Amino acid sequence: MNTARHSRRLFVQAATAALVSGSALRRPFEAQAADEKQLPTPNRLLDCHLHINHFDRSVEDTIRHMDQTGTTKAFVLPLETGEGNVLLRSETVLHAFHLYKDRIIPFCQTDIRQPDVLDRIRAYHLLGCRGIGEQKEHLRLDDKRVEAVIALCDELNWPITIHFQDSANGYNQGMAEHLETYLKRYRRVRIIGHAQTFWANISAEVPSPDRTLYPTGPVRPGGLLDKLLSDYPNLYADMSAGSGYRALTRDEDFTAGFFDRHPGQILFGSDCPCRDGAGENFKGVCYSTQLQRLLRKLIPDESRLDDAFHNNAMRALDGVA
Ligand SMILES: [Zn+2]
Ligand SMILES: [Zn+2]
Repeated sequence: MNTARHSRRLFVQAATAALVSGSALRRPFEAQAADEKQLPTPNRLLDCHLHINHFDRSVEDTIRHMDQTGTTKAFVLPLETGEGNVLLRSETVLHAFHLYKDRIIPFCQTDIRQPDVLDRIRAYHLLGCRGIGEQKEHLRLDDKRVEAVIALCDELNWPITIHFQDSANGYNQGMAEHLETYLKRYRRVRIIGHAQTFWANISAEVPSPDRTLYPTGPVRPGGLLDKLLSDYPNLYADMSAGSGYRALTRDEDFTAGFFDRHPGQILFGSDCPCRDGAGENFKGVCYSTQLQRLLRKLIPDESRLDDAFHNNAMRALDGVA
């Protein structure tokens, strides 16, 4: 017998049993969301891109990172295939969610090259996961397996966070050719774009990924991101990591206009592996702290800042326009 398949079947059965036994996983989250409405704006900070065992960071240190950076909640994204030096199982994220229900919004991710992937995703849905991410396997964006997962997110009314990296050994390659097809075909799923190739397309001039994944210097207006964000309200921009920060700081005048054009689609996120909000265990840099500082500088309007820090991510999560 195929042991892996057998254990997956047991897992799906356990998920169904959990639902039948009535574990109402969403209720604490909603109760906490009501409390959060009391917070003055823009003091609510939702990090749309966080992992747990980034550089072996524990759950407790991940929460410490949230405390130190003023982060109220985070989308916590597993990476079951271990890409980018993070190996984080969806079950581990669910376990952390049960420990910190008011802080963690659990996403799931599983190897979409496995034949039972759609059953597994449905099981994670029953167990309380709220979206897929980080979608990051060595598959081209137009691969049928990628499309099947996007279609399931559309059915479940979920967001999906996708890592776009067009290098030879990259992930979801072909964003410029294929992303619009999905945005047009699947109107309910919220596609949250992340990583180097997504952000290189802030400019109309995108160098070959062989030359660099991190273009610098002034942005040439008319880039693919401006076009897609304007045409498709179901696309969101995850500003996390070095890729987001470098793109947003290469031409700050352009960035200020970019924020003005898409105020409802930009999501604060860190992807930060540090432990204390000051770069501990990560070259003295905290992606959360430095992006917060940049956004406070470039978005002077408090209510727009609250959108970027919190409200846009909640709309991407809940699918309410
Ligand atoms: Zn990540
Ligand atoms: Zn940090």
